[in-house]
Amino acid sequence: MSTAKEMAIGWVSEQAELLRRVHLQVWDWAEVGLKELKTGKLLADILEEHGFSVERGVAGMPSAFVATYGSGAPVIGMMAELDALPGLSQEALPYRQPREENGAGHGCGHCGYATAALGGALAARAAMEQFGLPGTIKCFGCPAEETLVGKVFMVRDGVFGGVDACLGHHPGQANSAMMGSGNAMNSVKFEFYGKASHAGGSPEQGISALDAVELMNVGVNYMREHVVQETRMHYVIEDGGHEPNVVPAYARSWYYVRAPTRDLVDKYYEWVLRIAEGADLMAGTTHKVRFLTGVHNGLPNRPLAEAIVANMRAIGAPSYTDDELAFAAELATSIPREQKLTGLRRSLLPDAMALADVDIDTRIYDPYGEERKGGGGSSDVADVAWNTPTMQFSTAAFIVGAPGHSWQNTASSGSSIGVKSSLFASQVMAATVLDLLTEPELLAAARQDWQARMQGLTYKCPLPPDLEPPLDQLD
Ligand SMILES: [Zn+2]
Repeated sequence: MSTAKEMAIGWVSEQAELLRRVHLQVWDWAEVGLKELKTGKLLADILEEHGFSVERGVAGMPSAFVATYGSGAPVIGMMAELDALPGLSQEALPYRQPREENGAGHGCGHCGYATAALGGALAARAAMEQFGLPGTIKCFGCPAEETLVGKVFMVRDGVFGGVDACLGHHPGQANSAMMGSGNAMNSVKFEFYGKASHAGGSPEQGISALDAVELMNVGVNYMREHVVQETRMHYVIEDGGHEPNVVPAYARSWYYVRAPTRDLVDKYYEWVLRIAEGADLMAGTTHKVRFLTGVHNGLPNRPLAEAIVANMRAIGAPSYTDDELAFAAELATSIPREQKLTGLRRSLLPDAMALADVDIDTRIYDPYGEERKGGGGSSDVADVAWNTPTMQFSTAAFIVGAPGHSWQNTASSGSSIGVKSSLFASQVMAATVLDLLTEPELLAAARQDWQARMQGLTYKCPLPPDLEPPLDQLD
């Protein structure tokens, strides 16, 4: 290992207390998407104190920032995610106990996502200074990943322009660089307008906006049979009227349309728009479409994944104290065994069933899962990945079998298991950034891999050019 990398890894160990405090502070604040003002400021302030020049409030989002250190080529980026999830408030205890009833919590572990980017950036900077390394590093504070807002607006507004490669770290159940790609997606609201009347006395004078919402849902549910298997279309009715004796003059649904490729999302989305028009015809309503956001399907990068895994192995995964193992074991009792086994069977993790009786996974996996094209969730990391070689890795912060977006993940994120994950991830991040700064062949290989994946594809931002981040959607 190069002395620069050794120095950066040592820096994280020496500054563990700073990073631990940031991780737990962000966990404690648990600010939801676009409201991560304290979280964004904390990170930006620390980066500024460490010699980064910071631009705040980028792409029209108050919590978004870019922190830059160094000059010239290459330019290596690190993404920090900032947001928590509503309803997942939970103490750092191995049994269910919300900190605040219905409060938010880091059930996706983005406190670790933020800390790893911060730690990686600070440690890489320290090594760059000490060894006089050329190049530029950028730490991006990215709001509202959960609602797929932050990065796609930042990409549209050119914030990621000029970046030669970009890294992200998402806390997970394993120490790995998963090569699967999530679904592309559109998020959109449909507002239907009808006419109120007495539902008992004069229904013939009313036009029900709720009828249109329901008929549209029926149409989409019939459409389901004729889309590719990995497609996901889901909705909620945000407003369906007030009381049964008033014909609802207004109703609103919120749709996610997801599919394994961006062009399929475009196709299915057009179809859904036509179904909304059909609902108008049937119900006699009119409607407005409010497009919130859209993202691409993910694009992994094999040379970056291999560099990440090599660094993980050189550094070594964290080990756990008896107390931590006992915490994990107790937390694991809240997850039905069948659910855990089903999750393992469905995962593409090599030798997954060996984890049937394991609570924290300490293995380090070779890059895996490339056969998974689409399916499941979506991430705005994809829109960065369509513009520059990008790889997201995970380190074990959650217990094996815990569902995504769960109180169990909030609990372990807030424990010393979560902190260890962030420190390890900071080291891996810094080491890989230093590889990219000092090994032109790695950067060239990453670029080549990216070009091969982008063959025949052109990035077209899913957002209309004048669309603003949905700051007005916050309660
Ligand atoms: Zn997440």
